Amino acid sequence: MPKNLSKLAKAKKIKYFLISFVDLFGVLRSKLVPAQAIAEMQKNGAGFAGFATWLDMTPADSDMFGVPDPDSLIQLPWNKEIGWLASDLYMDGKPVKASPRIMLKEQIKKMSQKKLQMKSGVECEYFLISEDGHSLADKRDIQSKPCYDQSALMRRYDLIKEICNCMLEMGWKPYQNDHEDANGQFEMNWDYSDSLITADRHVFFKFMVKSLAEKHGLRATFMPKPFGNLTGNGCHAHISVWNGKINKFLDNKDKLGLSKLAYNFLGGIMNNTQALSAFFNPTINSYRRINAPPTKSGATWSPSSISYTGNNRTHMIRIPDKGRFELRLMDGSANPYLLQAGIVAAGLEGINKKLNPGKPLHCNMYEDYKKYPKLKKLPNDINQAINMLKNSKSLSNAFGSNVIRSYIKLKDSEIKNFKAKNIFNKRKPVSQWEKDNTLDC
Ligand SMILES: [Mg+2]
Repeated sequence: MPKNLSKLAKAKKIKYFLISFVDLFGVLRSKLVPAQAIAEMQKNGAGFAGFATWLDMTPADSDMFGVPDPDSLIQLPWNKEIGWLASDLYMDGKPVKASPRIMLKEQIKKMSQKKLQMKSGVECEYFLISEDGHSLADKRDIQSKPCYDQSALMRRYDLIKEICNCMLEMGWKPYQNDHEDANGQFEMNWDYSDSLITADRHVFFKFMVKSLAEKHGLRATFMPKPFGNLTGNGCHAHISVWNGKINKFLDNKDKLGLSKLAYNFLGGIMNNTQALSAFFNPTINSYRRINAPPTKSGATWSPSSISYTGNNRTHMIRIPDKGRFELRLMDGSANPYLLQAGIVAAGLEGINKKLNPGKPLHCNMYEDYKKYPKLKKLPNDINQAINMLKNSKSLSNAFGSNVIRSYIKLKDSEIKNFKAKNIFNKRKPVSQWEKDNTLDC
C-alpha cells in the first residue's frame, strides 16, 4: 500500500504540500496544495499546462497531471508545515515520455530486468554570490588557492551548518562540507543511494541551498561557470551497480578493483560521452567549464578528453577506490534526472554489447594531452553536443527517438535565442544572457 498523504499530513502537522516536477531544462516547478486537498491530488495529480514549461507541448494539449510519489515526501526541516513531493507527469492517462523523471524510471526498469540496480552519489558544487550575480558574496575570499580555506568556510558557518543539519534530520547521512577550489565555492557531501532517490535528493538539495542562502541574505548558484577566471561548478557522480547487497562492480582481484561488468559499463559511458554531453553539460555556459583554459587556482578540475584512470583527477573518469568509479563530466546545470538516466542508458549499452573501455591512462592529462592525439575530445560548445545527440543511435534507442527529438527541439530554440544577440566565446567574459538564463539553474 502506498503511503496515505492525507493521514501523514495529520500525523506530521503538514499544512501544505509542494507537488513538484522538473522539466527538460531542469527547472523545478510546483503547485502549493493545502493538506485538505491532498487526498484527491494523490489519486489524480495536480494539473499543469505543459506548454507553459520546458516540455515539448503546445497550448492546445490537454492538461498534464503531476502525480506525487509518496515515497519522495520530505517535510521541509526549515518550515515543517510544508511537505515536498516529486511527481510523475501524466497526460490523457499516459506517462509523459519526454519528461525527466519518467525517462529515468524507464532506464531503471530496464536495469531491474537484468536484476541490477544503479547506486550513485552526486557532488553538487555551488557559489555564494551577490544578489545581482556580478560578484562573490565574501569580499575577503581572494586567495589564489582557496580550496579548503578554513576561514572562508567558517565565515559561512551559519548557513553551512543549517544546510547540513537539514540533511542530518532528513536522514541523508551527510559526512563533510568544504570550501572548494574557486573563491566563493562550496561543496557538501551526503551518502550515495539508489539513482532515483539520489536524483530526487539532488533536486531538493538545489532548492534547499538556494532557499536557505536567501534566508541568510545570500544567493547560491550552481551555474557551471559564473566567473571566467575561476574553477567552475562541477557535479561529479560516483557510480556502482548492485544486485541486492552485492556490489557487482567490485572485483578484489582486479588492479583497480573493478569487475568485468564495471568495465563494460564504463565502456558504454565512454562510447556515448560526446552525445551525453547534451544532458550532462546542457547549457551554453557549460562549455566554458570543459575544454577550458586554466583558472586562477592553476587547474580547471574538469575534463577535455574522453579517458579513464585510477586515482587521478585529470581524467574524465577516475577510479578512486575499489567497486566504483567517478564520472567528472557533469556540471551544476545538469538536470538531476537526465544525469542519472544518461549514465544508466549508456552503462546498459556497455553491458549489453560487452564494450571494452581500453586500457586506463595514468598520465597527468592536463599536461600530457598532446601525447594522446587519437583520444576523442569533448564537445567544444552546446551546438556540437546537440549534433552528437542528433546522430546518436544509441541514445535514440535507449530513450526513444521522439523523446530525443523533443529535447533537441527545445535546445535548438534556446540556442537560437542566445545567438540572436550573442556569439559564444569562452575567452571573452561571461555574457549577460548566460547570467540571466543560467544563474538560477
Ligand atoms: Mg568538488
